[in-house]
This record gives sequence, C-alpha cells and structure tokens, in this order.
Amino acid sequence: MARVLLVEDDDAIAVPLERALRRDEHDVVRTASGEEAVQLVLTDPPDLLLLDLGLPDLDGLEVCRRIREAGSLVVVMMLTARGDELDRVVGLDVGADDYLSKPFSLAELSARMRALLRRAGPAAPPAKDRRPLRVDLGARRVFLDGEEVALTVKEFDLLAVLHRQLGQVVTREQLMDQVWDEHWFGSTKTLDVTVARLRAKLVRSGGPVRLATTRGVGFRLEVGAPDA
Ligand code: CA
Repeated sequence: MARVLLVEDDDAIAVPLERALRRDEHDVVRTASGEEAVQLVLTDPPDLLLLDLGLPDLDGLEVCRRIREAGSLVVVMMLTARGDELDRVVGLDVGADDYLSKPFSLAELSARMRALLRRAGPAAPPAKDRRPLRVDLGARRVFLDGEEVALTVKEFDLLAVLHRQLGQVVTREQLMDQVWDEHWFGSTKTLDVTVARLRAKLVRSGGPVRLATTRGVGFRLEVGAPDA
C-alpha cells in the first residue's frame, strides 16, 4: 500500500487505472495538470509518481526535471504512448526511475510498482562512520565524506552493484541485469545516462571517488586517497 500521485489527463486511462490502484489498497490522488503535480510533489510528497508524458500544460519530462531540480527523490514511473528509445533516454536523463509504455497491463504495472517501492524502502538514521564513501544498503543511504548524497532509486541500485565489487570492472551486461530487471527491453544507453548522473553526484576533482569507464566492457568504482 502506497501513496500514489497519478498524473494523467486521459480519462479513458486514468479512471480504470485509479480504480485498479484503489483496489490494490493504494491511496491515490489524481491530477491532469503537470503544474499541479509539481506543487503536490513538493508540498505533500507521495511514495510514487505515475507520470504521463503528454499533458496539456507541462509535459511529463518537464515535471520530472522540475521536481528533481527542487531536490525531490520521489519514485517516478513514466507512462507514455510513445515507446521509442529517445523518450526513454530523455526520461531517465531527467531523473525518472522507470518507464512503462502504453498499452500496459495492470498486472505489469503492479509488479513494477512493487519492485520500485520495495527498493525505495523506509529511511533509517545513519551510524557514525569515517569512510570517505559509505553505502548503507539497509537504509539505502549514501554518504560522501560524511555528507549525505541524494540518489534516485536507479542511481542507488547502480552504485550498490559497483560498490559490492569495488575496484573491479563490472560489465555492462551485469549492470543491466542487476539494476534493470527482466522487464527491461531498452538499449544500454540508459546505463550510460545513469552512470553519468551518478558520476556528477559522487565524483569531485581531487575527491575520494573515481568511476572509471572501461570502454565497451563496463565500469569500475574506486574509493581512496586522491591521486598525488
Ligand atoms: Ca496524456
């Protein structure tokens, strides 16, 4: 059971979807307006945002971009009639966690929502720790030099896999398999986009974290003293 904000202007989709979500005992708020969605996320954050791409006022990509820029970490699943690769990559680039192309079955939506919400989990207070990069798998929190870094669900999952094999190259196939589930049919461009987002948040010039690319093979996370 979760608090879901459904942002969809098409009644033919929204009405049965809202009914199905309520039947699954979710607490649903619906709006057809992108502007209103941004306000609601920032003032009364839901657990999950189901976000249509084509909205009358502000499109879904812009909604996602605005809430991420405002610091929201709400779980975002984009819904779109357009299943093409460009939309997927742009969607992930603005900070969506997952993507579902219309038409989709309610069973598929439920399964994907459960997976996302399970991963998002509840936050717990951090323990004292002096490591330059600390990845708390239980609480799903990340600290860089003692400062918490806000990561989306997929950014965290990616970091967790790389961190588990610290100092080793993790192949693109392993990352796609472990971070994006068996429902994922897109190309691995989504991986590069998420790596770039993670790098922007964790890697500082002279800082302790390095995220190296082994071209055509995969990625390697290193944590330690900066290079002399
Ligand atoms: Ca629409």
